[in-house]
Amino acid sequence: MAQQTLKQRFADRLQERQEAHLYRRRPLSFGPQQPQMNLNGRQTINFCSNDYLGLADNPHIKQAVIHALQSGQVGYGSGAAHLVTGHHLEHHLLEDELADWLGCQRSLLFSTGYMANLAVPQALMQKDDLILADKLCHASLIDGALQSAAELKRYPHNDMRALEKRLLQAEKEQRQVLIISDGVFSMDGDMAPIDRLQDLAQRYHAWLMIDDAHGFGPIGENGLGCFNYFSRTIDDNTILVGTLGKAFGTSGAFVAGSNILIESLIQFARPYIYTTASPQINAVATREALNQLKNADRQRRHLQQLIEHFRSGAEQLGLDLMPSISPIQPIVIGDSESALQWSHALQELGFWVAAIRPPTVPQGSARLRITFSAKHSIQEVDDLLQALQKVQTQLRKN
Ligand SMILES: *Cc1c(COP(=O)(O)O)cnc(C)c1O
Repeated sequence: MAQQTLKQRFADRLQERQEAHLYRRRPLSFGPQQPQMNLNGRQTINFCSNDYLGLADNPHIKQAVIHALQSGQVGYGSGAAHLVTGHHLEHHLLEDELADWLGCQRSLLFSTGYMANLAVPQALMQKDDLILADKLCHASLIDGALQSAAELKRYPHNDMRALEKRLLQAEKEQRQVLIISDGVFSMDGDMAPIDRLQDLAQRYHAWLMIDDAHGFGPIGENGLGCFNYFSRTIDDNTILVGTLGKAFGTSGAFVAGSNILIESLIQFARPYIYTTASPQINAVATREALNQLKNADRQRRHLQQLIEHFRSGAEQLGLDLMPSISPIQPIVIGDSESALQWSHALQELGFWVAAIRPPTVPQGSARLRITFSAKHSIQEVDDLLQALQKVQTQLRKN
């Protein structure tokens, strides 16, 4: 193709996206992350953040940050990569505390969950290896798998028979397999069958990587996520990924597992080696966040009440819910245009609910991704249900 200006290449593509109702926009937020927030200059009730336990603006965490900065032991920036001079005592203590909480040997901090998921497959997998990933895995897991030297095959969502077939084939071919799945699925809110996944991984000597970005915090005893929910403990061939930007309310991610796993990542994971360590003060905030998150039983109970209250109300309205016990409670609408109409109509009524459209979710399954925070009240959920009912009637008439 001939050389083009950026405009020649993109003007039409941008136009097409708009016409297909797939154009992405960034609502501008003012003030801290809260259920009640000002978005695009207007006061709304926010039902689409991932701040499940309300820790993104927690007074204890803010106090810990202020205290640490005043002590003079911690500054803001980290100044360099972990392997140079960026690995601060606070990072190190946080890694130890995460590992203790999870009951595994080690954990390793990453600057973002996206980078953690790029790092693991690239560092662990070799040519001729095989990655088997759930069809609905988070985009970062797919990108990580594609960048590794291994071959990627995807199995239908939570279909353990399809997965076993492929494991059987790989065993015949004597290929090393890495199974990859979300713990709680980010756009659906349902969980992977951790017990069956672990049984299969062990039977076929596969490695199991579970990204529980949405399970750590709201799910399991002490917020320990999906392994705890299924009463399973991780073994030496398990790779756990958690993100800190969701229920932890801070930023970054961790990989957790055996000593060998973590040492291998430090040696071989390019997204670990060639990047600046996250700010020192973020480690301070996250240590206090972990402390808050472990002890948030009251918030977890309240969250479950909100979820159950919402589900029974939404069922009465005949809305299309998904099989989810997590704070992610999507309502499937179908086509992108209708999903946007729902989202806009809810905005008019003062509720912020994102319309999630392809390619983030499969074609024909555009949805409202409703999420709950322990900071929501039952009254706010009732108000949301009322608004959904209004919009339902309004859009039916058109
Ligand atoms: C959000 C998310 C990520 C990415 O984490 P960031 O820290 O936001 O980069 C990875 N995996 C899953 C399942 C997620 O939901």
